[in-house]
Amino acid sequence: MSTPAKASSSPSPRQLFVTTALPYANGNFHIGHIMEYIQADIWVRSQRMAGHEVNFVCADDAHGAPIMIAAQKAGVTPRAFVDNIAAGRAQYLDGFHIQFDNWSHTDSEENHVLAKEIYLDLKKAGLIEIKSIDQFFDPEALEGKGMFLADRYIKGECPKCGAKDQYGDNCENCGAVYAPTDLKNPYSALSGATPVLKASEHFFFKLSDPRCVEFLEKWTQDGKLQPEVANKVKEWFSTRTNADGTTSTGLGDWDISRDAPYFGIEIPDAPGKYFYVWLDAPVGYLASLKNLLDKRKKSGGIDFNAYMANPNLEQYHFIGKDIVTFHTLFWPAMLKFSGRKTPDNIFVHGFLTVNNGEKMSKSRGTGLDPMKYLGLGMNPEWLRYYLATKLSAKNEDIDFNADDFMARVNSDLIGKYVNIASRAASFISKYFDGQLRYEGDTTYLMQGAISAAVLVKESYESREYGKALRDIMAIADRINAEFDAAKPWLLAKDETQRIALQDICSKVLHGFKLLSVLLTPVLPALTEQVAKNLFNLDRSFDWTDAAPLPTAIAPYQHLMQRVDIKQLDALFEAPAVVETAPQATLDKASTSAVSIEPLAPEITIDDFSKVDLRIAKIVNCEAVEGSTKLLRLTLDAGEGTDPEGNPVTRNVFSGIASHYKPVDLIGKHTVMVANLAPRKMKFGVSEGMVLAASSADEKSNPGIYVLEPVVGAQPGMRIR
Ligand SMILES: [Zn+2]
Repeated sequence: MSTPAKASSSPSPRQLFVTTALPYANGNFHIGHIMEYIQADIWVRSQRMAGHEVNFVCADDAHGAPIMIAAQKAGVTPRAFVDNIAAGRAQYLDGFHIQFDNWSHTDSEENHVLAKEIYLDLKKAGLIEIKSIDQFFDPEALEGKGMFLADRYIKGECPKCGAKDQYGDNCENCGAVYAPTDLKNPYSALSGATPVLKASEHFFFKLSDPRCVEFLEKWTQDGKLQPEVANKVKEWFSTRTNADGTTSTGLGDWDISRDAPYFGIEIPDAPGKYFYVWLDAPVGYLASLKNLLDKRKKSGGIDFNAYMANPNLEQYHFIGKDIVTFHTLFWPAMLKFSGRKTPDNIFVHGFLTVNNGEKMSKSRGTGLDPMKYLGLGMNPEWLRYYLATKLSAKNEDIDFNADDFMARVNSDLIGKYVNIASRAASFISKYFDGQLRYEGDTTYLMQGAISAAVLVKESYESREYGKALRDIMAIADRINAEFDAAKPWLLAKDETQRIALQDICSKVLHGFKLLSVLLTPVLPALTEQVAKNLFNLDRSFDWTDAAPLPTAIAPYQHLMQRVDIKQLDALFEAPAVVETAPQATLDKASTSAVSIEPLAPEITIDDFSKVDLRIAKIVNCEAVEGSTKLLRLTLDAGEGTDPEGNPVTRNVFSGIASHYKPVDLIGKHTVMVANLAPRKMKFGVSEGMVLAASSADEKSNPGIYVLEPVVGAQPGMRIR
């Protein structure tokens, strides 16, 4: 079949600039990130299917004190630390079929330049003010050298709602944004010390300026934002209570500077002063776009400034509900008063909870680990489909429920959709050599398909994915019912009914093609297989493919497996394993004195890089009561400090008790598999594995040798 020229659906396609929130570059993606990327990716794919031109970008948020401190602990530069995190992004994005056009980071040249330009424009507009403020200083931090405490390193009680253990910049309980000095009973999360106030000059963006207030009241209340978001934002224009009991009316000025040492962008003409990470982070959207357009410019693409100057350009940011203030107040005001284009909308989603409704935690071994999901061989499009069934345009939390997940994928996606093709295609291949033929007037088929496509496309546009999928499954139900009513299995037995059999199977396969088109934003890989392998197209579906009647099909090839309950069990429950000694496989066939284990099958560098090996310091080691084989190791793999300021450590059981006394190992460095799924053992959960060498022939050499790096290696360094 020849490929029809791609029809553009409108004379001038929409120009869309779309982003997701920048993830902070201090850890791997968790399922919450993946959900946001899937939500945005579905929206973008639907637009592209309509012929619209989308630039879909994101970047790592590289700056700020947490990264500076984590890098210091790991013994690397902050930039190297960020680069290392960034190197792990692609496996997640590719793994879940998320198609960004560009992925950059906020320490890029483009971001340094743009952040400074925006700042200087705001200064020119008279919206930057320098005030001397008393700021918290931890005299015990950095081994007694002391440092001004970044917001995330001061904790205390929220000045607005009184919630305990809130960070210095905003409250996770009520969403309030405040200055660290507003906190009640503050303490340093780094050292636990009570911070002292020390004067320092800070730069403020004057959000309280009447120009800003007027603009933001209009911008946030003109009906573009989701109603629940607009209402929340409205509170910030009214009265609020400060830490000292005084009340402020309206927007407060925003402190946009931090003192050295800080990993960030230095403020022009202000040595030792840096932009607060939240000033330059959203600029990273523009910087990543510029980075992309500069690359394309080399092959004749449009210039960044010209692109942004297009009055028809639409700009959208997908974000989570925890960062609404930054995106609906600070960011549009920064853009507006630096003379730049403001966003057309901010699309806010809620949090993802898993099974028991607990908020997703970043800590290991809890929730739904996206890399573990992929590692178990689970189909990424099951997750895309399932999350899409739950997503709507509302800013509300959604829950991943394992039983519901299996039911939706197995009963709906496979039972109702995939099975249509396998049933109808087998008759067409067997009796009609792949040829389709329709009896009577088929106008209604095409018109029905067009209406369905319009309806579903509109649901994607308005981010009502749950509705889109309910409508799609209702169509699948109708097609299945029509097919069953025609009793094709009886028609097939009667040679005189060939025309009727070919007709019903052709109509059903047209329906299957329609469903595939409608599902393409959600299931890009599966439907591409359908387009290419079943309908002989040489490309993926677009919206114009919904109506035309296919004239032939290729033999049906298997499309998708069902979810196996064992996979879900493995995903959520760390499998209990019996205690085992390190691998000391006996090669019984070998009789040579020096026995070398046969080499494992060849792997690629990509296979190797899946194993994240880190230097870890054995900070503690102890015998395990009730086990003669195991030692319990407490490992510092340079993973920073927890919110309480204690170093994050891992608990690892190792079957080396027959060869090492705990005291032999304490204080030593070793090599750990850092991304191994946690294993539930009889004595607790093991959160990694320590590497040790052993002979294949235990008899000739029963030794077990724990690996130790050459002096100088620091916890957290990666082995590559
Ligand atoms: Zn609060």
